[in-house]
Amino acid sequence: MSKDYYKVLGVEKTATADEIKRAFLKLAHQYHPDKNGGKDDKFKEINEAYQVLGNAEKRKQFDQFGANFNGAGGFGGGQGYGGFGGFQNGGMNINMDDLGDLGEMFGGLGDIFGFGSARGGQGRRREPQRGSDIEAAMTIDFLEAVFGAEKEVTLKKKITCAHCGGTGAEPGAKIEECPTCKGHGRVRRVQQTILGSIQTEASCPSCGGEGKIASKKCSECNGAGTAYDTAKFKVRIPAGVDDGGRIRIPGYGEAGDRGAGVGDLYLNIRVRPSDKFARDEYDILTKKEISFTQAALGDKIEIETVHGKVELKIPEGTQSGTVFKLKNKGVPHTSGRNIGDHLIEVVVKTPKNLNKRQKESLKELGI
Ligand SMILES: [Zn+2]
Ligand SMILES: [Zn+2]
Repeated sequence: MSKDYYKVLGVEKTATADEIKRAFLKLAHQYHPDKNGGKDDKFKEINEAYQVLGNAEKRKQFDQFGANFNGAGGFGGGQGYGGFGGFQNGGMNINMDDLGDLGEMFGGLGDIFGFGSARGGQGRRREPQRGSDIEAAMTIDFLEAVFGAEKEVTLKKKITCAHCGGTGAEPGAKIEECPTCKGHGRVRRVQQTILGSIQTEASCPSCGGEGKIASKKCSECNGAGTAYDTAKFKVRIPAGVDDGGRIRIPGYGEAGDRGAGVGDLYLNIRVRPSDKFARDEYDILTKKEISFTQAALGDKIEIETVHGKVELKIPEGTQSGTVFKLKNKGVPHTSGRNIGDHLIEVVVKTPKNLNKRQKESLKELGI
């Protein structure tokens, strides 16, 4: 039976090795028999195609023989291609680090190849993990949200162990060759899977790829390199943040194991309301009462903005409910490039408790 392996993988004949590998991983993920909608036959076909196209030498042969190329089996031992004979016996060399990246790309591909077990086998120390991200709530004042502020944060979190400085080794302990990887920093293991036997290589879980290991674990953290403690630090809240906003502060999450990266801190911001100002995104909203006379004849009035006092001209014949805009007197955008406006709604006070003379005058005017 002749097959077009390029069609099977859905790639062009001119595809690069990388494109072929990606196509294979994507399809392997899609058709894996353990998955919902997975197809055993299709999966085998994909694998067979990759056995050929994924190997530069075999691909050349296939290209040369074209449609007459007789599948993986066609190149039996007699022609010296026994190595990739059958699906069940076919051996593959997969570099775990390589797959790790691609696995993330295709979401969950790692499951197929059992990364979990390769990285965290029983009785082994796991590889150093980056510290977790943490979330905390912070309440700030209205004007702090408008203009930004420096705030102190106190949090109980995983921090770097002070005794060992995060290395996990007892200070002064002898540094020895790692017994797990014999100093290579990499470990290999062979797994029997649906793809045949897969030899995987990963960085050594005992020494985290260093090849060296301390003779004694830190007595304070038992080798973890981290400890739980209260951390106090200052953070900069950017101008323009609003109630319900979330700020990412890189490097202020939890410490990682044995010096691995630190996570990030996410601050969920609550803003205390102001008794003077309301806010609509980057605009400040206020109301201002003016007298009937000011509305009718016009006037200059003083408006309190978040940036200080500003004079506003009320034109003659202003109606109650009219909104005036003070440009650029609002909230700075978090991007720092723009600034909102201050919008004032004027409310005209209708005169009450007029004396007799005032009433007469109004009547006389007919308004
Ligand atoms: Zn320690
Ligand atoms: Zn090691």
